[in-house]
Amino acid sequence: MAKLNIIKYGDDTLRRVCRPVDNITPRTLTLLDDMIETMHAAEGCGLAAPQVGVLRRIVVVEVEEGHPIELINPRIIAYAGEQREEEGCLSLPGQWGITVRPAHVTVRALNRRGEEFDVTGSDLLARALCHELDHLDGKLFIDRLEKK
Ligand code: ZN
Repeated sequence: MAKLNIIKYGDDTLRRVCRPVDNITPRTLTLLDDMIETMHAAEGCGLAAPQVGVLRRIVVVEVEEGHPIELINPRIIAYAGEQREEEGCLSLPGQWGITVRPAHVTVRALNRRGEEFDVTGSDLLARALCHELDHLDGKLFIDRLEKK
């Protein structure tokens, strides 16, 4: 495994829309492993492929230590409620802000074996899923700051 460089705010890569993964290849699996190692090293609770320079729809999320969730081609299939919490991003070190997110979301994705699965999360997990999925469409949390 290798720790990857995290792209910082200002780089155009973070504003691009990512393409779906057509085939899960050994390279995809290596990328997932490297993204998890990179997320752990940065002490983040999620990381999206564009943050490491790969414009593909792949994210990793870990809000429960030791239980990373790998999501390939994820999409939100249900959401409910609302939460307002402080949010940050590994690509915007030192910046924090209150965002409005759903309180509960269900995301459908493929795992590393290409099997479809659903993950339902509330609170921090819901926020992390929404945050990371936003990255795949070139959106950042600063686009969603609560309007005062
Ligand atoms: Zn982020």
